[in-house]
Amino acid sequence: KKLGVALLGLGDYSTHQLAPALQKTRFAKLTGIVTGSPEKVPVWQEKYAIPDTNVYNYENFDSIADNPEIDIVYVVTPTGLHPEFSIRAAKAGKHVICEKPMAPTVEDCTRMIDAAKQNHVTLQIGYRLHWDPYHLRLMEIMKSNEFGPWSSISAANGGRMENFTGLNRWRIGKELGIAGALYDLGVYCVQGQLYTAQELPHSVTARHSTERTEIFTEVPETYEWTLEFAGGRKAEGWASYGKSGNWIRAEVEKGTVELQPSYGYGGQKGTTPDGPMTLDHVPQQALQIDGQAQAILRGEPSRVPGEMGRRDIRVIRGIMEAAATGQSFEFTDFE
Ligand code: NAD
Repeated sequence: KKLGVALLGLGDYSTHQLAPALQKTRFAKLTGIVTGSPEKVPVWQEKYAIPDTNVYNYENFDSIADNPEIDIVYVVTPTGLHPEFSIRAAKAGKHVICEKPMAPTVEDCTRMIDAAKQNHVTLQIGYRLHWDPYHLRLMEIMKSNEFGPWSSISAANGGRMENFTGLNRWRIGKELGIAGALYDLGVYCVQGQLYTAQELPHSVTARHSTERTEIFTEVPETYEWTLEFAGGRKAEGWASYGKSGNWIRAEVEKGTVELQPSYGYGGQKGTTPDGPMTLDHVPQQALQIDGQAQAILRGEPSRVPGEMGRRDIRVIRGIMEAAATGQSFEFTDFE
């Protein structure tokens, strides 16, 4: 059986990545849409043969509860709206896939996790790199200590973005984008740093900076941070809408393990102390959705559960707090 997926929020990522990916999946298929833009409805209906009965707007969306053709609601809106829509989907009895970053606050994440539990559905995050062979190899190397333990980690994700008009405006607003590049791009670095370290940090120091103050009036352009781990080891990272960078790197006993570029939809390159990684480039989103659908079908734990999304928001909020206060922030309550 293929699980029916309704995409909620038909912006750039749904249009250009997720809907095409859902044409390639073996365990899931695109059966519905939820949108606040009526003009998109006929275009999507025609392109993906979606019947009238599977089309919803943000007002009548809760009646999706009665639709047996939709098993999963995939929330692809601006970050600030992830909690509301994920919780409504869970209350409608639908499994939820929520895009990264999970939600504005740790408390929002907890509300989402609780809603899924109470309604006996699963909640998973759209962390596509957990299906990318380069990232899987990195995780395997670090987990097995293949090249010895790590001594330092560095990660960066950024690009100079010029166009923040129209739809893209939410990314640099506090309400829906929360902390700009830190949320949008930094979450990949935090994820990478945690699966490279294979352990949790005890504290973080951070700073933010803005070069183009006329554009970045609500959120900083750049965040830099240093996660501190047991034994004095550090993982440095930055995320920026002002400068370019795209890597995760670990110094290990026998040399360097690195992915650069690291976070794209493909095109990863990697090296280990043994030389270049030669791995397949895969359709990440199709494998991700299939993996998530299989976890549901088999009743198995997800690779990317809501709890992982919340853990990462906890780290990101710690970075924000450390940058705001100029003090080291201690993580006290990782679950
Ligand atoms: P987008 O701006 O192109 O699309 C957002 C969609 O949400 C639009 O269709 C918009 O109409 C809708 N929306 C509903 N209410 C809105 C409101 N109040 N204000 C603004 N838009 C509203 O953004 P996107 O690039 O498609 O990103 C959507 C989500 O997907 C974000 O959470 C983003 O982080 C995530 N994303 C993930 C990846 C990935 O690789 N996993 C890549 C891109 C985006």
